Amino acid sequence: MLPLLSRRLAQRFFPHSNRLLTTYFFSTTSDHRGSNPSRPSPPPIQVLLTESAGRGVFATRSIEPGELIHTAKPFVSHPSISSIDKVCYFCLKNSVRRLGFQAPEVLFCSEECREQAKGFYEVEKEADWSAFVAHCRNRGLKYPFLAKRLACMVISGVTSEDSLDILQPARLSAEMISQMEEELCLLRGALEDSGVKDEQLTFLNIEWYAGVLARIRINAFRIELAGTSYDDLLALAAASVESEAAVGNAVYLLPSFYNHDCDPNTHIVWVENVEARLKALREIEAGEELRICYIDASMDRDARQNLLSNGFGFECNCPRCMSND
Ligand SMILES: [Zn+2]
Ligand SMILES: [Zn+2]
Repeated sequence: MLPLLSRRLAQRFFPHSNRLLTTYFFSTTSDHRGSNPSRPSPPPIQVLLTESAGRGVFATRSIEPGELIHTAKPFVSHPSISSIDKVCYFCLKNSVRRLGFQAPEVLFCSEECREQAKGFYEVEKEADWSAFVAHCRNRGLKYPFLAKRLACMVISGVTSEDSLDILQPARLSAEMISQMEEELCLLRGALEDSGVKDEQLTFLNIEWYAGVLARIRINAFRIELAGTSYDDLLALAAASVESEAAVGNAVYLLPSFYNHDCDPNTHIVWVENVEARLKALREIEAGEELRICYIDASMDRDARQNLLSNGFGFECNCPRCMSND
């Protein structure tokens, strides 16, 4: 049960009740678990405001260990540079057949993915991205690709320019913002040269770009596919040796509302593509907050605190950290 203050705040921010907010962010369903498969039950969670950590995700009933709590499709995703010729440009599925692949075309694993990618790809494919890609590649930047894809989605009208505003932003230094100016210039230049009209680019200024990057920085997930076949396992092992197991990065809405714990009760996994699966690691009681671990939980306390403070801007007060473990 939440304290009164949080409930009041919750009412102010989400006046139409939290249930609506929760429902709005589900692109998906939970296990059917014996109910009528044609009418899947809603996932057993709700988003509420917490006392100390902003929004959080809470169980609405008890959840069993290993249970699939819900799945989530990304709001925006992009393959990593090293995977771009190996995975689906939309869903990041691995081992895509390379038949018919001709540079500079990108790969899609299915007609469905090609269709869904139209929202950004129709705009993107008209532009020459070589300067933008070279700039990001030389600096090892991965997040500008997500911003580029989002910009193309806004231009084509499939999403609005403020669609990520609901997510928590990172604090940016003046130096970080001045570095972003250069990326923005290349991004805007590529779109202008491809013939996108000025009035379609009015949103694409440094305030928008820095605001988007600030949100991507702390909300993007690095996607590593667990895979389902022996071939996938071999590919993953080889990728780990090359220290690049990630097939890409993605931003989700609902999964971003999960708070962190160094000894989490929930984890997020990817099996064959970018669709995220939130699973219970142990038994969770009704009303308990569901938390995931944002970092490698095997690190010691100091290393975890450092990473969380520098990367995510908070000091972790989870029970494990408080007991100096
Ligand atoms: Zn695909
Ligand atoms: Zn902790």
